[in-house]
Order: sequence, then C-alpha cells, then structure tokens
Amino acid sequence: MLYGAIEAGGTKFVCAVGNAQLEVIERVSFETLNPGETMPQVVSFFKKYETELSSIAVGSFGPIDIHPESKTYGYITSTPKIPWRNFDFIGYLKRNFEKIPFYWTTDVNAAAYGEYIAGHGQGHSLVVYYTVGTGIGGGALQNGRFIEGFSHPEMGHMIVRNHPDDHFKGNCPYHQNCLEGMAAGPAIEKRIGIKGQDLKEDHPFWDMEAFYIAQCIHNTTMMFSPDIIILGGGVMKQVHLQEKIHREFSKLNQNYVAHPKIEEYIVFPKLGDQAGIIGCLGLAQKIASN
Ligand code: ADP
Ligand code: ZN
Repeated sequence: MLYGAIEAGGTKFVCAVGNAQLEVIERVSFETLNPGETMPQVVSFFKKYETELSSIAVGSFGPIDIHPESKTYGYITSTPKIPWRNFDFIGYLKRNFEKIPFYWTTDVNAAAYGEYIAGHGQGHSLVVYYTVGTGIGGGALQNGRFIEGFSHPEMGHMIVRNHPDDHFKGNCPYHQNCLEGMAAGPAIEKRIGIKGQDLKEDHPFWDMEAFYIAQCIHNTTMMFSPDIIILGGGVMKQVHLQEKIHREFSKLNQNYVAHPKIEEYIVFPKLGDQAGIIGCLGLAQKIASN
C-alpha cells in the first residue's frame, strides 16, 4: 500500500510517495511555474507508482474551493498567481489517474495535520498551525478535523495593530496592513530592503516582527483556546524570534488567559519543512481507509 502527497506551494511543488508507516520512499521537488509546465511533472512522477497507490492527498496554496458539492470543487480560485487562477487542480489529476481517490485541502491544513499526527500536535485536541513565509496562512484542527465553514480559514489576513515606530503601510493587495501585509517575508523585504534571511539577528526589526506575530497568537488564543500553536515557514527559521514572540504575547495577554506553559504553547514545527508532506501522506491514508 502506497500513498501519494502533493505539496503545492507558491514557490515550489513537492511530490512524494510514502508507505503505511508514512515513511517517504521517493520525493521530488520543482519550481512552481504555470499549470501547463508544472502539472505534467506531477503526473509523470506518480505514473510509475500508479498501480500501487491507494490515494493521493494535495495540500495547495490558495484560496481553493473545498466544498464537494460546488461546481468548482478542487479548483484554485482567486489567487494573485494569474496562470493558476480558476485552475481545476483535482479535475486535472482525476483525468490522469482515473482510479485513484484524491484528498484536497490547503497547504497549511496539510502541515497542521502532519504536526498533529507526527509532530508537536500529537495528543492534543485543538491544534493551530501558521506558516510565515511568502504569505501567512493558518490551519486549525479539532480532534483531527479541520475547522472550516463556507470555506477554509484565512487567518493570515487578520487585522493587526501597527507598531508605533513602524511606518510601513503594508503590502497586502486586499487589506494593506493585515498580518500578512505587515509580517510575511515580502513585507520584511519591502520595508527594509533586504530579505529576512539576510537580516542580522540583532536588527531592531525583529522586535517589530515579534510584535505582529504575538498579536496573531493573542487573537488565536482568544478565539480558540488551542492546546498548542505551531509556527512554521521561512521567516520562523529565525530561532531567536521564539523568545521575542513569547515576551510580546505575555505583554498582550496580561495573565488574562491561563494558557499552557509558554515554551510548550508557542512552538516551531517538530517536523520542520516535512510537516506538509507527512500531513498529506496521513490524509491520503485516512481517505483510503474510509
Ligand atoms: P513559501 O512561503 O514560498 O512556501 P518559505 O516558507 O520559505 O516559502 O517563505 C519564503 C519567504 O520567507 C521569503 O520571503 C524569504 O525571504 C523568507 N525567509 C526564508 N528563509 C528565511 C530566514 N531564514 N529568515 C527570515 N526570512 C526567511
Ligand atoms: Zn490581507
């Protein structure tokens, strides 16, 4: 029994095949170009496993249509990436793999699920996962089920207060100074003129970044009282941010909510960059066993 995983990110695609223990057998990665160039690479990777695959799960950048009864279920919808706008992702895969069932969710939901089954989320009832990278996205799970209503959450676009010393206007094309507009990787680069990965650890900007992420933690805490909040994505590779975020969050909370011990409450992913792929393998296994 093999399972397939597709992590469709805005920058790169990762495809993997794993076994029943969710161990990765083969994995490939390629740049996200347009569907006409990228999707044939996806298909050719899985073709050699076609007869052994029980199911494939896709964790995609979005927004995406997740409602099975909708005419555009399985589509990427209003993405700013024009070639992918209204692309029928699941339809394309089904045409190429007629017998294989597909699971379809957001990239960040998939990562949340990975941490839930094999990372820091294990044994917890309510798990929230954020990625802070090219964009900011969030996914929440209650007892292994994604929290969603008319659509999947878009937690990265929550409104935050501006830092008093921050003169950056924000770069979200929809809301300008929402969390993503203020704190995602491109907002850092636009504000300071260099990429986050090239910014020194003692640069004063990092306190501002922590100020914004702490508001995200505060809002999340007040809305869900989760057991754990996991922070992944490129920007969170700045390990020193963890302590700064803890400090800023404690200032906001003012001991109002008695949350779990802070070092165990606000954490980085145990699975690192593997969370999304492991999550997809787990979701593929889940639908195959239903
Ligand atoms: P994506 O969101 O495209 O899947 P990433 O999570 O790696 O990919 O996010 C990329 C963004 O994160 C870029 O804006 C990049 O500048 C920023 N970034 C990547 N690595 C780091 C780092 N070590 N420190 C700070 N920012 C980083
Ligand atoms: Zn926004």
